Amino acid sequence: MMKKRIAIIGAGPCGLSQLSALKDDAFDLVCFERQSEWGGQWLYPYQNETDSSEEYIHSSMYRQLWSNGPKELVEYVDYTFDNHFGYSTPSYQPRSVVFDYLTGRAKNKNIRKFIRFQTVVHNVNNEQDIFKVTVEDLKTSTIEELTFEFVIVAAGRYATPNIPQFHGMKQFPGLVLHSKHFHDASEFVNQHVLIIGSSYSAEDIALQLCKFGARAITISYRTRPLGYKWPDERIKEVPLLERIENRLAYFQDGTESESEIDSIILCTGYRHHYPFMAEHLRLNCPTKVLSPPNLYKGIIWSKQPNLAYLGMQSLVFQFTMFDVQASFVRDVILGQIKLPDLESREQNIAEWIDLEKTLKPGDGESEFYYQINYMRDLLTQCHAPPQFDVNKVIAGVKELVQHKQENVFTYRDHSFVSIVTGSRALSINPSLPWLQNMADSVEEFLNQSLRKRQL
Ligand SMILES: Cc1cc2nc3c(=O)[nH]c(=O)nc-3n(C[C@H](O)[C@H](O)[C@H](O)COP(=O)(O)OP(=O)(O)OC[C@H]3O[C@@H](n4cnc5c(N)ncnc54)[C@H](O)[C@@H]3O)c2cc1C
Repeated sequence: MMKKRIAIIGAGPCGLSQLSALKDDAFDLVCFERQSEWGGQWLYPYQNETDSSEEYIHSSMYRQLWSNGPKELVEYVDYTFDNHFGYSTPSYQPRSVVFDYLTGRAKNKNIRKFIRFQTVVHNVNNEQDIFKVTVEDLKTSTIEELTFEFVIVAAGRYATPNIPQFHGMKQFPGLVLHSKHFHDASEFVNQHVLIIGSSYSAEDIALQLCKFGARAITISYRTRPLGYKWPDERIKEVPLLERIENRLAYFQDGTESESEIDSIILCTGYRHHYPFMAEHLRLNCPTKVLSPPNLYKGIIWSKQPNLAYLGMQSLVFQFTMFDVQASFVRDVILGQIKLPDLESREQNIAEWIDLEKTLKPGDGESEFYYQINYMRDLLTQCHAPPQFDVNKVIAGVKELVQHKQENVFTYRDHSFVSIVTGSRALSINPSLPWLQNMADSVEEFLNQSLRKRQL
């Protein structure tokens, strides 16, 4: 019997979850990855590991980025952090350490052999149930058209910046950049930086700028402020920017910046951007949605159910949800999940979207519970989903929110209990809180953990 041909686009966390879920079944499996290494966003090519001569940089991460949630909330049930490192490590980790863990599991699963690196997907179209996928080998510039019976888009949703315009911004004499191009907070020492946006990037870049010595940080929000009790008077939140005149900023409440602005960082999010998908198969919607349109269970392209998208919803969950979604896709391919007819799929999508419309914009708590319900729904559908206790995830997220509300500068100094193993993470060295901890590499971070264990 001919093996079913399956294409996965992208070898970031979603693509790796999908490969892990499908590798043992009798499929003809190919994952196309444009970059020369795996890891998606977590592969930061300016720093180490990889070839920094690549023309295309996918990652929007930066030097000294640490995870903004404890590792216990992203831990794979079949491959724990303790497994990977051989001993307990603190809950919050630099990007390079998360990369090491993420790709450690991929090595453990022996899935690298399915990936065609430096191969970009240019076009996906279908003739009924067969997909024609045009790919280019970037090493040789060879273009091929291949056919597949199932396509899974795992291309990520944080690579194409959303750039709004503000009056006077074009004439601003200082630096204006999107957070995608923010690489190093130490470039802003002694500066007054205006951050536009009030989501995760705005929050984390403000913290980074404080950590590395910016003079003042003004965060301009559209709908609501981040609202922390900022323990540092350098950070101030103001309503949305109305206009810039020379180096002074004027806000919608009629106030103006207290001093001249040196640089502007647009933390204004990203756009879903999958130009390689034929228009009738292309996801196109605002990125901050929990239930993207046209996707049954947030995954299966309703009108063409041998096409799936992974990780497209605005997320509370990350790696663990990618595993559950990948498990759902596997069950659909194997026929262990029988999809309802088109009309029922469309109705189900509409119900989730209608429910999302009842949430108050920006109400993080109700968004979280919405996604918890989504996860529970997926877990009940899957034949053999990764087993983890959703109630413990809820407890972990509540703890994280509380830590941030107490002090957003110290939330990364807490340790959490693993949902998988039940053991508490190594506590940090009290003389080295996150605010003073400049570890950015795996070696530095693990040496610190080892020293702490020997104390
Ligand atoms: C600044 C920043 C900070 C973050 N911090 C955290 C955090 O602390 N904790 C957390 O859990 N999550 C964090 N995230 C979220 C992070 O994006 C996800 O954890 C995860 O990387 C999403 O995985 P993905 O596979 O969907 O996409 P990505 O990681 O974006 O991977 C997509 C892959 O697809 C490839 N690709 C794209 N198009 C093509 C094509 N046409 N052909 C071939 N290959 C293609 C890309 O090269 C890439 O390797 C952060 C994101 C950003 C931007």
